[in-house]
Amino acid sequence: MNGKIWAENNQGRGTTFHFTAVMKRSTRKHVPSQTTEEIADKRILIVDKSSSSSQILVNILAKSGALPVTENDPASILEKLKKAEEEQKPFDLCILDIGVSHTHDFDLVKLIRQADLATSKIPLLLYAATGERPGVNWREQGIDGFLAKPARRQVILRTLAKLLDGKKPDDQDKKSIVTQYTIREELKQTIRLLLAEDNKVNQKLANAILTKAGYTLDIVNNGREAINLFTASPEKYHAILMDIQMPEMDGLTATRKIRQAGYCDIPIIAMTANAMKGDRELCLEAGMSDYISKPIKREIVYSVLEKRLLQNDEILTGE
Ligand code: MN
Repeated sequence: MNGKIWAENNQGRGTTFHFTAVMKRSTRKHVPSQTTEEIADKRILIVDKSSSSSQILVNILAKSGALPVTENDPASILEKLKKAEEEQKPFDLCILDIGVSHTHDFDLVKLIRQADLATSKIPLLLYAATGERPGVNWREQGIDGFLAKPARRQVILRTLAKLLDGKKPDDQDKKSIVTQYTIREELKQTIRLLLAEDNKVNQKLANAILTKAGYTLDIVNNGREAINLFTASPEKYHAILMDIQMPEMDGLTATRKIRQAGYCDIPIIAMTANAMKGDRELCLEAGMSDYISKPIKREIVYSVLEKRLLQNDEILTGE
């Protein structure tokens, strides 16, 4: 790495090791996220009996520029909202972090909605450890959003952004509540894939499956085209689906070249017709991240992409 390594020994105080190294600039691009913009400087009240669990939320929110305040005593919530109003610093959103599965118990929600306060219509996010799905009448009960605990950072931020943005006309009321499913669908629509595949029938099949799921797709015919299109604007793509056998340049070679050029983070998913033993190893060895065998099946493609893209906060937040 063209670097140096040396050590300094301080008698009786241990040794300090130093090194220098020349490294490639990270190819990881920061994708500007709208969510942070909508959350910045927003006053968010977190109601949670357990301060350790609310601390996680506080950290996530504070890091995104929001102004979180916690309240451990649910009985004090009206007082808290009122005081903030009096100080001309009303809350913009309230998270009811209600712990384990009391989602059917909406007393606190009722209390806020029926209160004689300017902020009684504040967006309410229910955050609870439960396998329950939101009921059809939750919206009527006064709940705007629901997340099952623990939710991933990106999902929490997206949900908050959406709820904070929900004051816009025609977006309010009648709509169903915001959940992790809503957010997941939205995330999919921000994802752009690059497909390298020489077979037209397979191109069509992949295109149908992927666009149906909400992904956007660019298609090229071989490895060389894939490299050209990807390296021209790497920040545009979230993952590459790569056929192995292609004319001009095969998928393994293209993958190696992309990795060698320093693009280490972009998930490259192999698609191969050879269901031969050892194929998987060959793909991984070339730097591919995952492996799908052909003919590609809807459910497998979806689950591999979700695993690589939607369960990985880093890719979508660019951090
Ligand atoms: Mn092929």
